[in-house]
Amino acid sequence: MPFLIALGCIILILIAWIRTPKGKGWLGELKVRLFVGKTKPQERYVINNLTIRVDNTKTCQIDHIVINKNGVYVIETKNYSGRIYGQENHLEWTQVLNYGKVKNKFYNPIKQNKTHLYHVSNLLTENLPLFSAVVFIQGNTQFINAEGVYTLGELRRLLKSDNRSTLSPKQMECAYSALIHANDTSISRKEHIQNIRTNQQNLSNNICPRCGKKLVLRQGKNGSFMGCEAYPQCKFTKNI
Ligand SMILES: [Zn+2]
Repeated sequence: MPFLIALGCIILILIAWIRTPKGKGWLGELKVRLFVGKTKPQERYVINNLTIRVDNTKTCQIDHIVINKNGVYVIETKNYSGRIYGQENHLEWTQVLNYGKVKNKFYNPIKQNKTHLYHVSNLLTENLPLFSAVVFIQGNTQFINAEGVYTLGELRRLLKSDNRSTLSPKQMECAYSALIHANDTSISRKEHIQNIRTNQQNLSNNICPRCGKKLVLRQGKNGSFMGCEAYPQCKFTKNI
């Protein structure tokens, strides 16, 4: 009997935890992990939760990387419920819950993942096709107006699409080993979150969160914006 009570308590704690943002994030990543499958040498290489150190105050955590003959897919997963409103070039997107009573802003995941792509390309020894995929696990992408946003089913089709064969098994393996060697398991979640905060402060002080150079005022066809001074190496932009 005490055993059953203990088991019941553990189950209740687990159910409560899975509803927290941390629990939801974990469950979301687990779903994608099961979805993309495991590494199959010569055919597909998978890295889950790659953490790399860019410099002293910059770390980068990538949910999933899949390398197949099409190229290197950098996957960011979001397990958000409710309605998600997002525009490709806006700095922040909005999650709307409870029929509009709760609104949460979050950093545009397209921009977040572009930064990941930038760091991944710096780690690769040759120029390979890189693809960004932001996946909304709950499939709530209907109010998002941006390229590169997928539901799980769309991600499956994307990874299986077969029209871009370019990489040889050797190239896939080289890319995989370059990335797996860069994985720094000594970076704690706490340090990574602290670094994200530092970078958010930098962004408001017009320092590029991608490469650390200055953001400068530029003119485009849609008016003025802040762009990285390292353009075209770094293509980070911020609306004003
Ligand atoms: Zn930059």
